[in-house]
Amino acid sequence: MNLQLVAAPPRPAPGVDGAGPAIRLDGPPERVTAAATATADQVAPDYVVELENVSCYYGSFRAVRDVDIRAARNQITALIGPSGCGKSTLLRTINRMNDLIPTYRSEGRILLDGQDLSAKAVDPVAVRRRVGMVFQKPNPFPKTVYDNVAFGPRINGYRGNMDELVERSLRRAALWDDVKDKLKQSGMALSGGQQQRLCIARTIAVEPDVILMDEPCSALDPRSTLQIEELMAELKKDYTIVIVTHNMQQAARASDATVFMTMGDDRAGFVVEHGRTIDIFTNPRNQLTEDYVSGRFG
Ligand code: ADP
Repeated sequence: MNLQLVAAPPRPAPGVDGAGPAIRLDGPPERVTAAATATADQVAPDYVVELENVSCYYGSFRAVRDVDIRAARNQITALIGPSGCGKSTLLRTINRMNDLIPTYRSEGRILLDGQDLSAKAVDPVAVRRRVGMVFQKPNPFPKTVYDNVAFGPRINGYRGNMDELVERSLRRAALWDDVKDKLKQSGMALSGGQQQRLCIARTIAVEPDVILMDEPCSALDPRSTLQIEELMAELKKDYTIVIVTHNMQQAARASDATVFMTMGDDRAGFVVEHGRTIDIFTNPRNQLTEDYVSGRFG
């Protein structure tokens, strides 16, 4: 069964500016403090991605446990935390990419616009069309710049004007001016930063709802990193973005909401705190978060 492409109507949700409700650690759920300061004219965000009690396993190893987080529409949500705490696992669970790993399974519910993506009947390919992914290392196809962007729309049976779609996607990825005279050249001949923007153009060419980014700047120089961050700020006007980053400055600069994860003695990753980025970095509620964002741990 294919996923319906009709989005469910937004549902009212607690929290402010992308900060979901506080995350359960051991005790009962707390409320995000900022919610108390919300005024009546603030519109509660609607959440595009919601993870409910999600645990992820590789064989018998539980890599991530009991995650309840949400990503608000047109916002950038950053996942931060020490290496190995399950950030990538969680990200790849959202678009069901980890289904490709035979030993992998997840528990809990993953909702996209209210629709349960983890339901057995949902086609993972349809999920990946709605939830695009940009990887750590730019990975253009060994094809021309044009064909890199046209590839997804073609296999999805796009019937509109392909030249226009390719140009529009490249413009939205802030790459058009760099490549408009190189459309027939190999995408792999571009610089690293350009390749990553090409991968972003390729992702948005199929008009996903959500873009997942797994450390998209870690292989890039500072200038290219800044370009990608500026691009993310533009893209969030049209898309919902969830990014894994090991770069705390990047999370602080570029994201609206931040999820801090760590792991226990059993190496299972869990969410310590989820809130507005400004609160996580300047006024964290949990000592573990404070130690991490201040560089004392991790
Ligand atoms: P992070 O992104 O926070 O660095 P990962 O999601 O990559 O963390 O890894 C979380 C845990 O899952 C780690 O203990 C890692 O070794 C394990 N893991 C990741 N991928 C696999 C896999 N394909 N098979 C088995 N274990 C894996």
